[in-house]
Amino acid sequence: MGDVYLSAAAVERVFAAQVLLDRHLRSDAGGRCTTCGELEPCSSRLGAQRVFAQYGYLPRRRPGHAAATPAPETRFNWLSD
Ligand SMILES: [Zn+2]
Repeated sequence: MGDVYLSAAAVERVFAAQVLLDRHLRSDAGGRCTTCGELEPCSSRLGAQRVFAQYGYLPRRRPGHAAATPAPETRFNWLSD
């Protein structure tokens, strides 16, 4: 029984952090976040990573995410890679 149990509130926080991270992963040629314009890693991204660390959660990484806007149907493609 070593699994970490996340309360509903924690799941919500982690989910919100994942959404935030997805929005703040891309940077332009100058190394600035394309969403908020801060130098990478921007404060929103760092905040999301703090939430992940707090709950011992590893954010999903989607290959190709930084290259293009992900379509919903590509979300789980990495599972079959
Ligand atoms: Zn940002």
